[in-house]
Amino acid sequence: FGRLKARLARSGSPLGVKLLAVLSRDSLSEDDWDELEETLLLADIGAGPAIELVEDLRNEVRVRALAEPAQVRALLRSKLVDLVDPTLERTLNLSKHITEDGAEKPAVVLVVGVNGAGKTTTVGKLTRVLVAEEKKVLLGAADTFRAAAADQLTTWGNRVGVETVRSDRDGADPASVAFDAVKRGSAEGVDVVLVDTAGRLQNKTGLMDELGKVSRVIEKEAPLSEVLLVLDATTGQNGLAQARVFTEVAGVTGIVLTKLDGTAKGGIVVAVQRELGLPVKLVGLGEGSDDLAPFDPEQFVDGLLG
Ligand code: GDP
Repeated sequence: FGRLKARLARSGSPLGVKLLAVLSRDSLSEDDWDELEETLLLADIGAGPAIELVEDLRNEVRVRALAEPAQVRALLRSKLVDLVDPTLERTLNLSKHITEDGAEKPAVVLVVGVNGAGKTTTVGKLTRVLVAEEKKVLLGAADTFRAAAADQLTTWGNRVGVETVRSDRDGADPASVAFDAVKRGSAEGVDVVLVDTAGRLQNKTGLMDELGKVSRVIEKEAPLSEVLLVLDATTGQNGLAQARVFTEVAGVTGIVLTKLDGTAKGGIVVAVQRELGLPVKLVGLGEGSDDLAPFDPEQFVDGLLG
C-alpha cells in the first residue's frame, strides 16, 4: 500500500509542488485562490469538483479563521480524501460461488476496456498477486482478434505457472473461448478465472453484442464476480466518453486505472469515479509485474500532495 504514495510522490507530483507553493503563502489573496483552483483543474479533477472544493475550502478557512499554511493544507487534504470517497467498496469479490446443488464454481473476473488501455498487462499482474496468495488461477484469452494478445497473456501466465485457455485460430468466437475457460476452471476446481477481452470499439452496437454475448455465455457456467473496466489515466477526460460505453454494455463493477505512473494528472481518479459512478479498485503504476496496487484514497491523496 505504501508504494502507491511513494510512486506518486516520486513521479514528481507537480500538483503537490504547486499546491504547496500556494498554500505556504502567509495569507491567501484572490489570485492565490484562483491559482489553487487552476492547479486542481490541471490535475484533471474536473471543473465542477475543483470549483466546489476551492469554494468550500475558502469558506471554511474564513469561518474558522485558519491562518497557518499547515492548517489550510490539512483541510485541503481531508477535502480531497472526501472527494475520492473513502466509503466506496474497493475490495475485489473473489470468493468461490456455491450453486444450489452444492457445486463449487470459480470466481470469474471479466476484464474489459479499449485496446492499449492495459488489460492484458493488468490480468498478468493480477495473476501474479493471486498466485502469491496461493489461489489457483486459470486465464481465458477471449481477445481472439490479435494472436499477439493471446501470446502476451500466455507469457504472463507461464511466468507464474498458470495456464491460458485460448483458441488456435484468429477471429474465433470470444464467447466460446470465455466459456471454455470458465468450464475448465469449474472442472479443475480453480479459485479464480480471469478473462481478457478484445477492446475494439468499432461501434457501440458491435461492442454491446460481443461483450453481452461473452457475459451471457460465461453466466451459463458461473456467475460473474467482477467486471473490471481498465482505463488509461493518461488519456484524461477524453477517455471518459469511451469508458461510459463500456459501463453501459458490460455491467462494470469496478475500475482499474492504469499508467498512473505516467501522468501528473492524478485527479482523473476523482473525475472517473464521478462520471462513471464506480469505484477505482486497482491502479497500475508501471509496466512491471509488481506494479499493481489496491487503490487507497488516503495514500493516494498523500501521494498527490507530495
Ligand atoms: P491492452 O490492449 O488493453 O491489453 O493493453 P496492454 O496490456 O497490451 O498494454 C498496453 C501498453 O501499456 C503496454 O506497453 C503495457 O506495458 C503498458 N502498460 C500497461 N499498464 C501500465 C501501467 O500501469 N503503467 C505503464 N507505464 N504502462 C503500462
